[in-house]
Amino acid sequence: KRLILIGPPGSGKGTQSPIIKEDYCLCHLATGDMLRAAVAAKTPLGIKAKEAMDKGELVSDDLVVGIIDEAMKKPSCQKGFILDGFPRTVVQAQKLDEMLQKQGTKVDKVLNFAIDDSILEERITGRWIHPSSGRSYHTKFAPPKVPGVDDVTGEPLIQRKDDTAAVLKSRLEAFHKQTEPVIDYYGSKGILANLHAEKPPKEVTTEVHKVLS
Ligand code: ADP
Ligand code: ADP
Ligand code: ADP
Repeated sequence: KRLILIGPPGSGKGTQSPIIKEDYCLCHLATGDMLRAAVAAKTPLGIKAKEAMDKGELVSDDLVVGIIDEAMKKPSCQKGFILDGFPRTVVQAQKLDEMLQKQGTKVDKVLNFAIDDSILEERITGRWIHPSSGRSYHTKFAPPKVPGVDDVTGEPLIQRKDDTAAVLKSRLEAFHKQTEPVIDYYGSKGILANLHAEKPPKEVTTEVHKVLS
């Protein structure tokens, strides 16, 4: 399957991704994770992306389309993929359609993590992540076995620099202005599925399974 996850910051995309990946054996491409890795490694791409990311604004379409184009060539992504955090603008969605058209494929389903803005601040400010795997925890909703430590590797968890209430405001603004039109774009193609992303993680997983079955 070729899937897209769309939702505001903190809606649970990163939490559901590994479960979907496991159940459907797909490659998982999260543009946010890839960009953060590029920033940490201070690659030319990372240097270009950092300023927008720190402010909670979107990185330019050309940069992210380039990353996705490159990543989708991986052999593991040929049979199917989960795009997490991409496309975030209508231009990105159109570019993706062009890329897939060239390969004679198309997007099967778009999962919309629908949720009210008011829930997101608590989710975002309590989020702790394991940078190298992208695994996320939450101080209240999904605490690690040992505080500050990844369950799987024992490595330290960190908080993302942009996971503050102030930067969340800009990220939500960008979401409503630039990404909500993408939801309509896929709605008009008839491949959109809306999830109740405010529910507990297990219930969201059940909804995901129903949509994909
Ligand atoms: P979230 O947890 O808000 O869903 P992500 O980890 O997906 O955040 O993205 C973090 C930041 O990376 C965004 O605020 C934005 O600056 C940048 N970014 C990620 N994906 C994209 C994209 N598809 N287009 C533009 N910018 C992106
Ligand atoms: P996104 O990738 O959409 O930005 P995450 O999956 O990282 O969101 O979730 C944001 C935070 O909220 C994380 O700390 C995560 O543990 C927590 N979380 C995810 N899904 C739920 C849920 N259904 N209920 C409560 N907390 C959740
Ligand atoms: P330090 O660098 O001083 O060890 P951390 O940045 O690891 O501190 O964590 C700050 C505080 O938050 C500590 O009290 C730590 O135990 C707690 N903490 C860190 N991560 C989590 C988490 N995912 N869930 C619950 N508490 C956490």
